[in-house]
Amino acid sequence: MEPSTRWPRMSGADEFGEIARLFRPLTHGAAGAFDLMDDAAVIPSRPGFDLVVTKDALVEGVHFPKGEAPDLVARKLLRVNLSDLAAKGAEPFGGFLAVAWPKAYGARDRARFAMGLSADLEAFGIDLLGGDTVSTEGPFVTSLTALGWVPEGRMIRRRGAQPGDRVAVSGTIGDGALGLSAVLGEIPDPEGQLASRYRLPFPRLDLREALRRFATASADVSDGLVADARHVAAASGVRITLDLDQIPLSGPAASWLEGQPDLIEALIRLATGGDDYEVVCTLRADAPKPAGLTIVGQVSEGEGLVTQIGGRVVDPGHGGWRHG
Ligand code: ADP
Ligand code: MG
Repeated sequence: MEPSTRWPRMSGADEFGEIARLFRPLTHGAAGAFDLMDDAAVIPSRPGFDLVVTKDALVEGVHFPKGEAPDLVARKLLRVNLSDLAAKGAEPFGGFLAVAWPKAYGARDRARFAMGLSADLEAFGIDLLGGDTVSTEGPFVTSLTALGWVPEGRMIRRRGAQPGDRVAVSGTIGDGALGLSAVLGEIPDPEGQLASRYRLPFPRLDLREALRRFATASADVSDGLVADARHVAAASGVRITLDLDQIPLSGPAASWLEGQPDLIEALIRLATGGDDYEVVCTLRADAPKPAGLTIVGQVSEGEGLVTQIGGRVVDPGHGGWRHG
């Protein structure tokens, strides 16, 4: 595409030098990345496996607060993408990065972004394989395409839940939404645990084996448990009933809940808030409950999502954060 004035490319020489300095080390010498010196990368096919591909973008002021530390933005970017691969039962191996640097992002900010990405690529054992770099008059925008392998035909879909299955979630639910409130200074967070859950989610790649063995359907919890479970119900053509009083809470979330005047409203807030980056899945009725998962509901014939507290149906309202 021709360069436009609204979305200018960086000038050739600058772009080249900076890509080499900032991003070439992040390839770890991966064979198909060609040291980021070619127009494109090559991913050799892997016999017996499917390539799973996902992409998430982050926009400053929408998905992270203005002024967030660049290294944390990079790490969150990688982690939200790995969360999608985790929910699909995939084993990540690489990613393609796009960055639109705003004017305000100086060389140090850009270097910090690359450092943060480097740290997490190493932590999760994956390579940067390519990307694109542009500059923008607007807010910082960055996006990653993450790649993973699953045994052929075995990606865990949103579709697949069967009447009689149980619904399970990993980790704890609601910390992401409370963490955003904590970052915005709306609620106390003395130990900083909630804010850190929001800033730096932890993709549940550890669940891969269990999900592949026992899950009939799975999704990552990014829009809120209620919304993401509803996606599974819709894709599977079943009804999901969630017991909101069963959702697993972290210590800080439980403390917050105790201080709330309206328990029902508060539970709904935890179950509909976004950014948890856990996994919601459905398990065959005869499957053992895998470690690290909590049963929070059931699948039945019908459609849609029903939420109940103490066995009584409650209306979750709009049910789920929609990113702007
Ligand atoms: P083009 O001129 O086709 O846009 P570029 O000069 O943007 O190509 O890219 C040159 C090489 O650098 C390619 O291998 C590309 O994948 C890589 N690259 C560019 N930007 C990034 C980035 N932000 N992260 C990783 N690789 C990048
Ligand atoms: Mg090119």
